[in-house]
Amino acid sequence: MDCIFCKIINGEMPSKKIYEDELVYAFMDIEPTVDGHVLLIPKKHYTDFMELDDDIIIHMNKVRKELTKMLMEKLNVKALSISFNYGDSQVVKHFHMHLLPNLLISDGAKNTVDEVYQIIKK
Ligand code: AMP
Ligand code: ZN
Repeated sequence: MDCIFCKIINGEMPSKKIYEDELVYAFMDIEPTVDGHVLLIPKKHYTDFMELDDDIIIHMNKVRKELTKMLMEKLNVKALSISFNYGDSQVVKHFHMHLLPNLLISDGAKNTVDEVYQIIKK
């Protein structure tokens, strides 16, 4: 299957990894909307949120809580939005959640992905 997110999980494509366990993978978005824009994906290829099993939803909920706490602490922000797209607004057809620090109170990304990654990985 020609899926860029499956390739990232398999290590066939590079990514800036934030977190990984047996079921999910999180990494920096390559074109961040805001500083610290992270994508959380299931390792299994689900095309979109309609396909998700209850078990993976529960697991992703646990992980996104941890990632939210970690990102807010490391980036020293007090706001974070979580979203996912569906239908024509979903460009990559492998389900993914966007974690967006300060989305509604900042005016976009100010630093490079790598600069923010260094802060998060410290
Ligand atoms: P969506 O519209 O929800 O499908 O958004 C897809 C997201 O994936 C966008 O924010 C892209 O910047 C991001 N993206 C696409 N390719 C890559 C990649 N190779 N590594 C990291 N993020 C990516
Ligand atoms: Zn995939």
